[in-house]
This record gives sequence, C-alpha cells and structure tokens, in this order.
Amino acid sequence: MPNLQIMSKCPMCDFKYEKDNIRIIEKKEGLITLYMNCTQCKSSLMMVIMTGALGITSVSTMTDIVEDDIERISGNSIDYDDVLEMHRFLEECK
Ligand SMILES: [Zn+2]
Repeated sequence: MPNLQIMSKCPMCDFKYEKDNIRIIEKKEGLITLYMNCTQCKSSLMMVIMTGALGITSVSTMTDIVEDDIERISGNSIDYDDVLEMHRFLEECK
C-alpha cells in the first residue's frame, strides 16, 4: 500500500508517526483531513487527502495548530477503527 507512505513519516526529521501522533480532523466522502504531530521535532502538519478521477491527491502544510486546538475542533481522537477505515479508504482509491 504505497500511498500510506505519504503520511507515515515526519517531513522534517523522518520520525515515523505512530497512530497516537495522528488525528483525524475531518472525514467526508473522498476527503480526509489529518493532523500529525511529531514527538521528535515537535513540528505539526495538516494533511488533506482527496480522491478523485485522477487518483489520490494529498496536500500537506506545516501548521501552528497545537493538539489542544484540534481537540476543540474535532473532539475526536483517532482510534483503531479509524486506522482500519483509512486503510480501506486508501485501498478503495487505487
Ligand atoms: Zn519531526
């Protein structure tokens, strides 16, 4: 599943994200917004994964949003079902 590599490492220090480092901010048909927080270099990034006729597009940006803000925005922490769902989502998009 090569597409998952998009989000598996910190772009700044190559720290490999654990599921605790990843939060789902928004999930919609064909679109997932993720927030990743690196425990090693403390950088945060937002990633939007979109699917369409051309396949998967992902856009990531460094962000100043801290995890507390995310709690307020979404109220949801990622759980195992979300991870499974994300895998399925990416599988379906191939
Ligand atoms: Zn990092």
